[in-house]
Amino acid sequence: MTFSYRCSQCGATYAPDEVTYTCPRCGGNLDVLLDYAALKPQAERLFAAGEGREPSLWRYLPLLPVPDPGGLGTPLRRAGWTPVYTLPHLAESLGLRAFWLKDESPNPTASFKDRASAVVVARARHIGAEVVITASTGNAGAALAGMAAAVGHKAVILAPKTAPQAKIAQLLVFGAQVVLVDGTYDDAFDLTVAAADKFGWYCRNTGYNPFTAEGKKTAAFEIYEQVIRPHGLTRLNVFIPVGDGNIISGVYKGFWDLQQLGLLPRLPRIFGVQAEGSAAIARAWAAHADTVAPVHAHTLADSISVDLPRDGFRALRAVRETGGAYITVPDEAILAAIAEVGKAGVFAEPAAATAFAGLKAALRDGLVSPDEPILVLSTGSGLKDVKAAMAAVPAAPVVPPKVEALSRVLG
Ligand SMILES: *Cc1c(COP(=O)(O)O)cnc(C)c1O
Ligand SMILES: [Zn+2]
Repeated sequence: MTFSYRCSQCGATYAPDEVTYTCPRCGGNLDVLLDYAALKPQAERLFAAGEGREPSLWRYLPLLPVPDPGGLGTPLRRAGWTPVYTLPHLAESLGLRAFWLKDESPNPTASFKDRASAVVVARARHIGAEVVITASTGNAGAALAGMAAAVGHKAVILAPKTAPQAKIAQLLVFGAQVVLVDGTYDDAFDLTVAAADKFGWYCRNTGYNPFTAEGKKTAAFEIYEQVIRPHGLTRLNVFIPVGDGNIISGVYKGFWDLQQLGLLPRLPRIFGVQAEGSAAIARAWAAHADTVAPVHAHTLADSISVDLPRDGFRALRAVRETGGAYITVPDEAILAAIAEVGKAGVFAEPAAATAFAGLKAALRDGLVSPDEPILVLSTGSGLKDVKAAMAAVPAAPVVPPKVEALSRVLG
């Protein structure tokens, strides 16, 4: 687990004990660099071993910048290694020849965020940080609260008071210290950074902490192991929902690591999908800018509702370097996507369904051909936001308990 940091913006490099969060020189997000030459033989063996390894992201421990966190027999050891489905009926309805949906809802706290939080908790244990704090629209907090609870670590979560009830319930049930902020996610983010500084706590904030992307990169390792490698794909198209831009940056980082390790000749093409009302990164992309200007975010997909993305620079890089594109979709398309993947048996929260809505837009606009292999990353469970789910489908009729009344509504 020897590693160093390199600033994604100015290229400055740092030793692990020199910095904790972002680049002291320019404020850029830090990439973690591994000793790729030394890891090569081990990495090849690791992916060749396949079956029988731990069914969690910890199967990739040698490629993570943390030591083994322990926590055996707890949910910390069950983050990651989520299923990929081919959903034949759904794929056929879109005329797709090779389709996969990677479902992140089986994670212990029901979203992709467990990957980042598991690795940040491992880092906290390694550096002896007793308290970990994070700002969250809900999922990152639930994930940190859950992963911390699993190993008896202290967590403090700051979330906007408007977060969906299910997510707030998770925070409280996992026993974190929860404070609801009368403001936006962006307000909570800034307050968290100030609190970590004042109280000497370790801050997990998305993008700001370099270990979040390192946790998230494990999804790329899994896509490689579950889809690319067994099917011998030369190029996969991956659709990812984007808010802060840390998932897309992390997944890119995972593919990039695999390329450095000589395992992946060509990077998959990455498509970022944003809600039209929260599209700071997509706007920068359309304007060919490499800095991201804030917006006033407004979308029902709360997990990707972000004014100022905290990993925007790297999120643009992920798409640019892989020949992908940014796509925006309206909230109505997100709701329609919830219903459509729902009929295939996958219950997605709005942000998660956004990736599928983006795929449909990309097919319509000819950004991707139905003949190409396609993977959609469905990032979280629909149980996280039941109100949005109910808005996506017609209400059920209510009848008196009489068979005549029942046959009338059945039509
Ligand atoms: C956080 C989150 C996203 C977006 O991830 P970013 O790193 O903010 O771009 C997408 N979907 C779900 C379910 C999330 O919780
Ligand atoms: Zn820098």
